[in-house]
Amino acid sequence: MFLDSHVHLDDVRFAEDREQVIQRALDADVTTMINVGADMKSTRESLRLAKGYPGIIYAAVGIHPHDAKSATENDYSELEGYLAQPEVLAVGEIGLDYHYDLSPREVQRTVFEQQLKLAVATDKPVIIHMREATQDTLNLLQQFTGRLRGVMHCFSGSWETACAVLDLGLHLGFDGPLTFANAAKLREVAGKVPSDRILIETDCPYLTPVPYRGKRNEPAYVREVAAVLAELKKVDLEEIASLTANNARDLFSII
Ligand SMILES: [Zn+2]
Ligand SMILES: [Zn+2]
Repeated sequence: MFLDSHVHLDDVRFAEDREQVIQRALDADVTTMINVGADMKSTRESLRLAKGYPGIIYAAVGIHPHDAKSATENDYSELEGYLAQPEVLAVGEIGLDYHYDLSPREVQRTVFEQQLKLAVATDKPVIIHMREATQDTLNLLQQFTGRLRGVMHCFSGSWETACAVLDLGLHLGFDGPLTFANAAKLREVAGKVPSDRILIETDCPYLTPVPYRGKRNEPAYVREVAAVLAELKKVDLEEIASLTANNARDLFSII
């Protein structure tokens, strides 16, 4: 069975057929999914989804760098409350995105740091989003070395960056881009990452893998990411599926 460690099933693009999408995931043996919050609204919806699909969907709660500008002090205490609920596994997704710069960088850093502190205080793993902000992200994380666990989700960086992330004790999450024709470099990096530090994810509805590119992504397609990883690691698909699922269960304390 497969575990998709990063989905956004609350997204409006699933409004029409969410139940069928979840059923297709189960039919494809994707038995566990973590729905990741990006702002307070999607955080609440993640929790609602987790309560609706107990043991199948879990939630992560947090404020994405895109929405950092609208974060308030009240939001942190609301997040803290959710983190006490059994369906909530992690703080995420949080981080820095200097590609879109939808929130001022200074504000992104503050909101990221506040939520890292929240993860430490509640002893929860983090799901980190990092885009064109490698150095600042690593600098902030280094302040918490030894006190944080989590995943650098949708990893697409160099081997040097991968090593820095591994040194911080974090896992690396791989998505659809691993299947892209022009991603030879990323596949080379993924091939070298220790097997016990790898997670697979779709980040659906985004980042649709080959051969479904151009369509909306969904959890059932996490198999395509797993298939590429299996080739890289020279093991069969079932082994990669159970290995990455076990990694996620350990990291997120899924019983
Ligand atoms: Zn992300
Ligand atoms: Zn995401």
